[in-house]
This record gives sequence, structure tokens and C-alpha cells, in this order.
Amino acid sequence: MVLDKLGQSLNNALRKLARASSVDEALVREVVRDIQRALLTSDVNVRLVLDLTKKIEKRALEERPPAGVSKKEHIIKIVYEELTNFLGKEAKPIEIKEKPTVLLTVGIQGSGKTTSVAKLARYFQKHGYKVGLVCSDTWRPGAYSQLKQLVEPYGIEVFGNPEEKDAVKLAREGVEQFKKKGVDVIIVDSAGRHKEEKGLIEEMKQISEAINPHEVILVIDGTIGQQAYNQALAFKEATPIGSIIVTKLDGSAKGGGALSAVVATGAPIKFIGVGEKIDDLEPFDPKRFVSRLLGLGDIQGLLEKFEELSKETEFTEEDVEKFLKGKFSLKDMYAQLEAMRKMGPLQQILKMIPGLGYSIPDEVIKVSEERLKKFKVIMDSMTEEELENPEIINYSRIKRIARGSGTSTKDVKELLNQYKQMKKFFKGMDKRKLAKMARKFNF
Ligand code: GDP
Repeated sequence: MVLDKLGQSLNNALRKLARASSVDEALVREVVRDIQRALLTSDVNVRLVLDLTKKIEKRALEERPPAGVSKKEHIIKIVYEELTNFLGKEAKPIEIKEKPTVLLTVGIQGSGKTTSVAKLARYFQKHGYKVGLVCSDTWRPGAYSQLKQLVEPYGIEVFGNPEEKDAVKLAREGVEQFKKKGVDVIIVDSAGRHKEEKGLIEEMKQISEAINPHEVILVIDGTIGQQAYNQALAFKEATPIGSIIVTKLDGSAKGGGALSAVVATGAPIKFIGVGEKIDDLEPFDPKRFVSRLLGLGDIQGLLEKFEELSKETEFTEEDVEKFLKGKFSLKDMYAQLEAMRKMGPLQQILKMIPGLGYSIPDEVIKVSEERLKKFKVIMDSMTEEELENPEIINYSRIKRIARGSGTSTKDVKELLNQYKQMKKFFKGMDKRKLAKMARKFNF
């Protein structure tokens, strides 16, 4: 598993939150400290860690969860969102807009560049593209045969010449040849070692000018942790780096540091290497990566819940007014009951409001789906006047409504009772506390 240690520690922090009976400031600070520790252990830069966790803490303490979402769920979402932003927010895949698309890979020897080139070739092949590889590494003996060996089983062609000493010439010839052959993606692998660093960067520039690639991809070893920052910057200064592949994230204790350092340079991570085999390359999607890292199998469900609630919760300022005045119609009651049914953990939220101490009796807000449906049928048989002002409904009207809706007088009475109870409950509440609750619901 990728970054399993970091994932485990973050997951433990969130579990602590989930298990707690109530969420207070002390707990938020403790969870934030746990997150800090987890990130620092993964070699994330101290300043980055502090910035990130400050944001999480501030939001967790200040933001009110929307209606229907518990404080815990809300904080989990904040952690998820901030970590996702921290790692680049959106996935930025390598796009094959033009055929052929020419990609140049650069990086220091040992970073996993050759392996990554083979993995990339296989990745594009699996996505239906015809791929050609060019080995322009004239420094390392065996670079050409290593690449050939890796992709041979997949029928991917490699252009190279171990005798040739001119890397720029090799790169140019390789690209020309594959262009003639009509391949879709040409990946040029450059040298990772030179007599001196300056020469390496210079050669990289020259190759880049000669073949004019659509994108330069830097391969960085994930095990170097936050040092990745300086390495990425050094390459970025020499040539426009379009994207980065961070390798060896499987089992690396410092992977979190490498990923965040790369993001801090402003270059997008497009793939991550997660093993030695040719298929161990994953497109990097911060959202998917963080949900997996946090080990929250149902985070997607939680996010959907947020989205749904923001669309469906029907509380408005007007509703609050009506609630506060104990003045609402049957239609309002229906809307509230429906909203509350969707909210589920309403009671839990109420209990979490310090000083409120209210617990709405079950019979006031809990109605089954079935009963709610029946209420709807009954209400459809009422006049506008009755809906607005249920007090006017006398026994003969009850009988008429029951007949019209195909229900019994008992059912109609039940609906009216529910209404009375709810009205009474809200009327009897402390107005100040109720306003506080309303705010809590994000009205
Ligand atoms: P180059 O010198 O940059 O071309 O590096 P290589 O591609 O030869 O890789 C160096 C070593 O790292 C090899 O043993 C690879 O198998 C290994 N390697 C590359 N990528 C990964 C990865 O994502 N995970 C693991 N575990 N090993 C990798």
C-alpha cells in the first residue's frame, strides 16, 4: 500500500475524532496535533505542515456544519479537503491532444526514470495509443537494452544506438523515425548521469530545443522526501517542466514529504510509481489519493451527503421566523418533517450544541416514510385555507378530508396531532436557544 504509515496515522487521528462522544475545542486541537505529527514523520516540510494544520484547525473550530451533517463529519470533510488542496486539488492527466505527441523525460539516475518510461509507454498503449520510445542516454551503458527489455513483451518499439555518442542527434533521429512510422505518442528518455550536473542540465536543454516536446516530464525519487523540492526547482529553472512523476511511493516512509514538496514547486504531479512492475504506475488524482490514504471507504458517500443536503435542505430565513414565532402551516411542517427525515442525526447535532441541552422528543420529529407518504395524500385533499390554517379543521372537515384522500379519520387526526405537537414544542422552547439552534443549522 502507498504511504501506508502516513495513512495509518491519519486514519488513527480521524478515528479518535469519530469515536469521541462529543467534539470540543480540546479534541479538535488534539486531532490537529496528531495530523501534524503524522505529516512530519512522513518528512513533510515543517512550514508546510504548520500552514496546513493551521488551516484545518481554524476551519474546524470556526465553521458551522450545514444542516444534517454532524460536527464530526464536517471536520473529516475539512481534513479531506485541505489535504486534497495540499496535494494539488485536481487531477491533471497528460493529454494526448495531437498525434504524435512528443514527451521528454528527465531526471537523475536512479530516480526510476527508465522504469517510468517503460511504465508510461505501457500506460498509453493500454489506452489505445501506438507508442514509440527513444533512448537518448549516451552515458549509461546498457540504458538502451534495459528499456528494450522492459517493453519488449508488449511489442513496444525502442529507437537507440549504443554506439552513438551524440544524445541530441539520437533524440532528433528517433523522433523523426517514429513520426514517419505514424505512432501516436513518442517518449524520449534522456540521460540521468553526466560527468557533472551542469552538463546534464545543458544536454537536457539541447535535446528539448531539438525535439520541441509537447511536455517535459521530470521523474523524481519519492524516497528523498522533502529534498524533492530543490531537485524539482533545479530542473524547472532549466526547462519548462510540464509534469512530474514521483516514483517508489510503495513502502517509502518519506513519500508524503516528496509529494507535498513537489506540489509546492507548482509543477503538477501526473503519475506516481507504486512498484517495480510495469503496471505499477498510477495517474495521480489528489482526491482519490487522499480518500484512499485516509482509509475512509465511505468518504465518497459522505461527500455525496453534503452535496445532497446543500441542494435539498429546505430551511430558509422565513422558516426560522415561523419556527421562532411558533407560526407555521401544515405545508411547512411537512417540509420540515421531510428535511428532518433526511437529516437523520438531528438529535445528535442538537446534543452537540453546548448549552442547548434540548433533545427533541422522538414523536415530534420522527415519522416513518410510510406515515409521511400518508400525510402527503391527506394534505392533497385539503384546501389551501386548511393547509395554511389547520385550526379551522373541525370534525366534519376531518371526515370529508378522510373520504377525499381514501384514508381514515384516525389518520387525519394523527396528522393534525403531529402538527399541534410540533407547534407546541417549538413555541415552548427558549427563543434565544432556538435562535442558536437555527444558526447551528446554518440558516
Ligand atoms: P533510472 O536510473 O532513473 O533510469 O532508474 P531505473 O528505472 O533503472 O530504476 C532504479 C531502481 O528503482 C530499479 O531497481 C527499479 O526497479 C526501481 N524502481 C523504479 N520505480 C519504482 C517504483 O515505483 N517502486 C519501486 N519499489 N521501485 C522502483
